[in-house]
Amino acid sequence: MTRNVDIVVVGAGVVGACAALALSRLGAEVMVVERRAPGATAPTAGSLGEDLRTLALSPASIALLAELDVDETGWAAAGCAYGAMEVWDAEGTGRLRFTADEIGVAELGLLVPHHPLAFALWQALAREGIVCLTGASVSGMAARGRRTAVSLDDGSEVEAALVVAADGGESRVRTLAGIEISTEDTGQRAMATLAVIERPHENTAWQRFLPTGPLAFLPLPDVDGGHRVSVVWSLDTDRALAMEALADADFAATLGAAMEDRFGAVMAVDRRVGFPLQQRHARTYRAQGVVLVGDAAHVLHPLAGQGVNLGLQDVRVLRDELRRPLRGPGRAMLGDPDLLYHYERIRRGENAIMLRTMDGLKRLFAAEDPGVRWLRNEGLRRVGDLGMVKRTLLRQAMGLDSTAGEPA
Ligand SMILES: Cc1cc2nc3c(=O)[nH]c(=O)nc-3n(C[C@H](O)[C@H](O)[C@H](O)COP(=O)(O)OP(=O)(O)OC[C@H]3O[C@@H](n4cnc5c(N)ncnc54)[C@H](O)[C@@H]3O)c2cc1C
Repeated sequence: MTRNVDIVVVGAGVVGACAALALSRLGAEVMVVERRAPGATAPTAGSLGEDLRTLALSPASIALLAELDVDETGWAAAGCAYGAMEVWDAEGTGRLRFTADEIGVAELGLLVPHHPLAFALWQALAREGIVCLTGASVSGMAARGRRTAVSLDDGSEVEAALVVAADGGESRVRTLAGIEISTEDTGQRAMATLAVIERPHENTAWQRFLPTGPLAFLPLPDVDGGHRVSVVWSLDTDRALAMEALADADFAATLGAAMEDRFGAVMAVDRRVGFPLQQRHARTYRAQGVVLVGDAAHVLHPLAGQGVNLGLQDVRVLRDELRRPLRGPGRAMLGDPDLLYHYERIRRGENAIMLRTMDGLKRLFAAEDPGVRWLRNEGLRRVGDLGMVKRTLLRQAMGLDSTAGEPA
């Protein structure tokens, strides 16, 4: 059986679901293909919270979700707004603190568990009347004139003018479209878990740069008086694997010490989810009939918590670029790579800068040379003293100074 639509979005993660909603709002007939079944628990489900995978949503991302009328009842309550971010060097005295007040906003962002947000997005897709083929995986793709046929592993197929690949870092659609991706293996693993700490996190995102890699404590709402944080710790692979295998009590003690016992004892920890740290960037974001968004196009080091925010900026720009063709006869031409030229130029450029910045930061803080150590501590102090530079950095990290979202 072949279904015919304007656009098929492959992958209903946060980015794919938002892309489907945004493009449907422009009047396109959109269908979604997602290999997970509805109601499936998160593969990263924990015992201390809904999901060990948490996302730091920037104000720009929160605004997009509001624009798309995504019901926030479930995920916003499970999340925690943070008004400050503090980073410091374990090997010196350099320290930098950013606060929402400095740039005149109410909060820097919102930490949310991935699963309730993804669930709310699936409900929004249903409310919008977007057909979601769940439990179905893409297995093949073929050009059919100006259109592209996507075949699914249940034997059915969907034909569309444009295939939006939002199927994550291991994107099958990207491979089927013959788009190459550059991969830089960092030799590190990131470990995600939840922890209950003795002292409050003060609604601040804390990040300590250790020579072995950055360690973040990200604030979550208190439960039964217990102060909870989402932990993301990047370490060399061998060290990370050894840490993942530790008994909870030993891991909790190691974690507390790595954070200088700044929040008192670590009272409880969840299971650890580890994943290899790779920075990946697709060489192009477009091919005949196909466009890449989110992790399918770029995967970056989690140290700035920007993964999902960059994906949602992709969605904003793609929507703006497709607004005009969807209004008129251009609808049949949606898969023309020329039409997607600006999308790629804007987003690939901005994402490349972020990928390079993450790489530079990682190398800078891993350096053991005393001269480099002095410079980075001095750098942290100087940026802290330079109000304008600090404010610019902060606004960019929050997506407030991006070209994304400007009217077409
Ligand atoms: C453990 C973990 C912790 C993380 N922590 C953070 C963090 O703290 N901050 C942050 O910003 N980012 C974090 N990230 C990264 C962040 O989750 C991603 O950048 C973001 O969710 C990307 O969203 P996406 O929708 O592009 O891809 P994904 O969330 O990967 O979604 C892809 C979707 O496509 C579906 N799919 C895949 N293949 C197929 C197929 N062949 N056919 C049909 N469907 C398919 C999948 O089932 C999935 O639903 C973390 C990632 C992981 C794994």
